[in-house]
Amino acid sequence: MITSTKMLPEGYVLSGEINLKKNKRLAITLNIAAFFVFVLSFYLLSSFTALVRPNLMNISGSITAGGAAVVVGLVIMLFTIHELIHGVFFWVFTRSKPVFALRLFYAYAGAPDWYIPTRQFMIVALGPLVIIGAAGLLLILLAPIRWIMFIIFFVAMNTGGAAGDLFVFARLFKLPPTSLMNDTGDIVTFYERQSTIDHP
Ligand SMILES: [Zn+2]
Repeated sequence: MITSTKMLPEGYVLSGEINLKKNKRLAITLNIAAFFVFVLSFYLLSSFTALVRPNLMNISGSITAGGAAVVVGLVIMLFTIHELIHGVFFWVFTRSKPVFALRLFYAYAGAPDWYIPTRQFMIVALGPLVIIGAAGLLLILLAPIRWIMFIIFFVAMNTGGAAGDLFVFARLFKLPPTSLMNDTGDIVTFYERQSTIDHP
């Protein structure tokens, strides 16, 4: 079984990258996809909630300025938690401290010194989507009614925000398990064993 390593093993060559800094078109496409994933998730979660918590639909809410400020604060917190979950999984597989950055329009976690094998990187990529999604569904079932709309909103935001993670995951799916990934935070680089490229 291959594990994460700080040294690119012999015989590995660069086979591709996802670089949102360089590839503006991909960055924009992913943002548009994120928006649609958000809307779809919001709709599906609302439908699910109507099914499991039917009395919710009697509640009507209004948005105040204070409420909006709270929501913005909570969204920043949500994305911080999302990146921390990526970070925890980076730590699980590398046993070293990941890097974090919070920019104006995005946040990221990365492990720039490491080469991480496909299966492990899949877990790193999907960790926040799965964990926050599962916690959210549980909360939809159990939380007080007045929180439910917030929970739906945040889980939908998280799912939309994971559009880039899903894109990386889809890409990983096509790679052999022996491939290695290096993630600086905004650039993911793929390495494959020379032999798997020569004889696919
Ligand atoms: Zn993510």
